[in-house]
Amino acid sequence: MSGSNPYPLEPTAEEMRAMGHATVGAIERFIDGLPFAGAADLDGAFELAGELRERAPEEGMPFEQVLDRVVMASQKAVNNSGPGFMAYIPGGGLYTSALADLLAGGFNRYVTFAGMAPALAQIESTVLRWLCDIFDFPQAARGVLTSGGSMANFSAVVAARQAKLGEGLAEGMLYTSQESHASCAKAGYLAGFSKAQVRLVPTDDALAMDADAFAAMVAEDRAAGRRPFMVTATAGTTNTGAIDPIARIGEVARANDMWLHVDAAYGGPFCLTPYGRALFAGIDRADSITLDPHKAFFLPYGIGALLVRNGTQLHDAHHVPAGYLQDLDLEEDLVPNMSEYSMELSRSFRGLKLWLPVQLHGMAAFRSALEEKLELARYIYDEIRDAPGFEVPLKPALTAMAFRYIPSSGDVNAFNQRLLDRINASDRIFLSSTTIRDQFMIRTCVVSHRTHHDRVEEAVRVVKAAARDLAGRPA
Ligand SMILES: *Cc1c(COP(=O)(O)O)cnc(C)c1O
Repeated sequence: MSGSNPYPLEPTAEEMRAMGHATVGAIERFIDGLPFAGAADLDGAFELAGELRERAPEEGMPFEQVLDRVVMASQKAVNNSGPGFMAYIPGGGLYTSALADLLAGGFNRYVTFAGMAPALAQIESTVLRWLCDIFDFPQAARGVLTSGGSMANFSAVVAARQAKLGEGLAEGMLYTSQESHASCAKAGYLAGFSKAQVRLVPTDDALAMDADAFAAMVAEDRAAGRRPFMVTATAGTTNTGAIDPIARIGEVARANDMWLHVDAAYGGPFCLTPYGRALFAGIDRADSITLDPHKAFFLPYGIGALLVRNGTQLHDAHHVPAGYLQDLDLEEDLVPNMSEYSMELSRSFRGLKLWLPVQLHGMAAFRSALEEKLELARYIYDEIRDAPGFEVPLKPALTAMAFRYIPSSGDVNAFNQRLLDRINASDRIFLSSTTIRDQFMIRTCVVSHRTHHDRVEEAVRVVKAAARDLAGRPA
């Protein structure tokens, strides 16, 4: 910063413009370069991390220098924003959503009390309503935008606990499948339940929750005097995209006065497509749904959502009045105070991250991008399934798929670990692995808005070539 400004914490208009241009320029170069960038660049990354272990500088340095350090640190990473990233659950990060983050920070309005900025608070409510509309949730539904799916699952347990158990946690029982995301069980533990109170229901051949086993567990627990109060079904598991039988699980839940939560962190947005709607039958009757717009809505990290059918139940579980907030504590039916539905009081204006891109591109753009991802996953499935030596245990319901190669001799798990390393050494695609029924599996997951047919075709070529090379050599 130039020495002439006596208040360096507030840059001049000219300085703001220069820094803004430099920042947007850096992002532009980064995104433009993504199709050509390697799938990962971790050479020297931990050395760089070491250089950043430093004391806070007493004197500031020029913006370009600081920006360079950020760009460099960002470079030394797994390229999760690029088209070749098909590991875990990708989320490409829409540029237009990053601009929303900049605007939100730049204006720095307080949006968790409607009275502070009614129209901006309404933008958050409108975004939540759009998400509710995907699942035909009633007008009485309310929701919160969280930092991610894990926090949404946590708030769901808190709401369910309050609605079904009140203060008496001791006998409460929660159920989720063995294939559910770790955050489902973790949410139960953090909400005050013991390991024994969180039961993991076995899965069927398709790795979806076994609804009969679930019903049997509930009956057994009730007979023993325990109080089953919540079940978390998954609409698109993280491992394989398996979809639990939501309608059947819902029937059991309703018959036993239990809360049905659906973790649709990964799968939810696919409900925008006719194919997804049919797959998720019964989700419209859920008590609550978790979504993760930083996955299949392609937004940058930092936005999850919890939708609750009966908004009053979410409010009851989270509203604690405070004297210093009494001026603001006026619940306006149409523009809710988000802090009354959430653990969080002050937070960033997350809603803009989704609102701005949807305003700009329209929902149709999201729907067709998701249709494209489904097609790409089908292409990968057809190609790998038909390739000699490969085994694909499950046809992908969504866009995640696990596979492995069966070598003619030697340890299958060890072979596939080497195969994964070899695939990732291509530096064009980046895949991850998982364990399914004690077997090491390689996993592909197409979600990024930047992954198109050309890269998926290349991925298939890389995978087949790596297996051929490796199988041709003695293990
Ligand atoms: C990713 C994911 C989560 C956790 O979401 P975060 O945003 O990473 O906290 C929960 N459930 C499912 C099914 C997921 O895929």
